[in-house]
Amino acid sequence: MSTAPFKRVAVRQPSPEELEAIRRDSLTLEAATPEEILAWAVEKYFPKLTMATAFGPEGCLILSMIAKIEPRIYVFNLDTGYQFRETLELRDRIAEKYGLEVDLQRPELSVAQFEAANSGPIYERDPDRCCFQRRVVVLRRVLKDFDVWMSAIRRDQNSNRADTPIVGWDKKFGLLKISPLANWTKKDVWSRITSEGIPYNPLHDRGYLSVGCRPCTVAVMAGEDERAGRWSGTAKTECGLHVQDD
Ligand code: SF4
Repeated sequence: MSTAPFKRVAVRQPSPEELEAIRRDSLTLEAATPEEILAWAVEKYFPKLTMATAFGPEGCLILSMIAKIEPRIYVFNLDTGYQFRETLELRDRIAEKYGLEVDLQRPELSVAQFEAANSGPIYERDPDRCCFQRRVVVLRRVLKDFDVWMSAIRRDQNSNRADTPIVGWDKKFGLLKISPLANWTKKDVWSRITSEGIPYNPLHDRGYLSVGCRPCTVAVMAGEDERAGRWSGTAKTECGLHVQDD
C-alpha cells in the first residue's frame, strides 16, 4: 500500500508535427458548436475517446450531447469517496433520463483505509496530496487505455483555464484533451440546461456554484467567484486534473 504523493510518471510526448496538427485542429474548431466538436472527436477518435465528469452543469450538458451523438463513449466519474449524496444521485438521474451509465472509478483504498493509513483525513492539512491520491492517480489509471479525453472546462471559469484550447496536448497525462465547451460562457451553459431540462445538481440552487467533494466545498455569496467555494480559505483552486505540470 503506497501513500507516497506526487510521484512523477513518464508520459508520451508528441512530435512537433503532431503538435502542429493539433494546433491547426483546435483553431479550425474555434467557430464550431460543442455538438460539432463532439461529432468531430467521435469521427476521428472513437472508441479511444473518453470523458471524465464531476457532474457539474457543463459535464451534464456534454453528457446530454453524448447521449445523442455517440452513447457508447466511455464516461466516468472520479469517485473519491467524499462526494455529496446529491452528486451521486445525479448520476442515477442522468442514467434514467439518457440511458448513460457513468462509471464510478474509485481509488485503490477506501476512505476508511486511506484515513487509517494517514492517521485521519488529510483534506484539511494536505488537500493537494488528498486530491492527488483520490483523483489524479485514479485518472491516470483510467486514461492509460485511451488516446483522447474530454473535459467540460470553460475558459471563463478562472485564470488557470483562460487559455484552454478546444484541442490540446495534455502534458500531464500524455494524451490529447478536447474541451468542447472551452469558449462557452456560464450563461450559455445554463440557458441550454434550462431550455432542454437537463438534470443538474440541486446543490447549485442552494448557493454551491461549483461542487466538488463534501469536505472541501461550501456555498458562496451572490457575486462571488464561480469557484470561490472550492477549498475556501486556502490558496488552492484546482484539484490538479486540469493543471499542466511543467
Ligand atoms: S476535493 Fe478535498 S476531499 Fe476531495 S480529493 Fe481533494 S482534498 Fe480530498
